[in-house]
Amino acid sequence: MLIDISSVRKSDGSSLRIDSAFELGELAPGFTDVRAEGEVRNTSGIVSMKLRISGVYSSVCDRCGNDAVLSIETEIDTVFDADGTKDDSVSFTDGRIDLDKTVGDALILAVPMQILCSEDCEGISGEGYEIIFDEDEN
Ligand SMILES: [Zn+2]
Repeated sequence: MLIDISSVRKSDGSSLRIDSAFELGELAPGFTDVRAEGEVRNTSGIVSMKLRISGVYSSVCDRCGNDAVLSIETEIDTVFDADGTKDDSVSFTDGRIDLDKTVGDALILAVPMQILCSEDCEGISGEGYEIIFDEDEN
């Protein structure tokens, strides 16, 4: 989905509403139920974009290896100049925002470093056994 913001750019006070569901596929592997909601707005000649982005991320728990399903939410809040925006996650060319890529990149950036199936996951040792490294074994 490409969003042309040139009309918003030309007219002070105008805005463009964004409220969509996305099927991102390869742009955001593991994500389903992706939505973005917000607007592009021209306030006194300054064009800004605010987007609330959400998605469901299916992965594997780093501790126990079970399925982990995370609800990911993130926001883009940025200002456009003639060349685009300084926000690296916004994909902007020829006056148009590539919303699929922008939403996908923002979601990927929002994935936590450590994926857990639940906050109190006890890992493999919680299943009733422990991995013991025997230092004498050579
Ligand atoms: Zn776990």
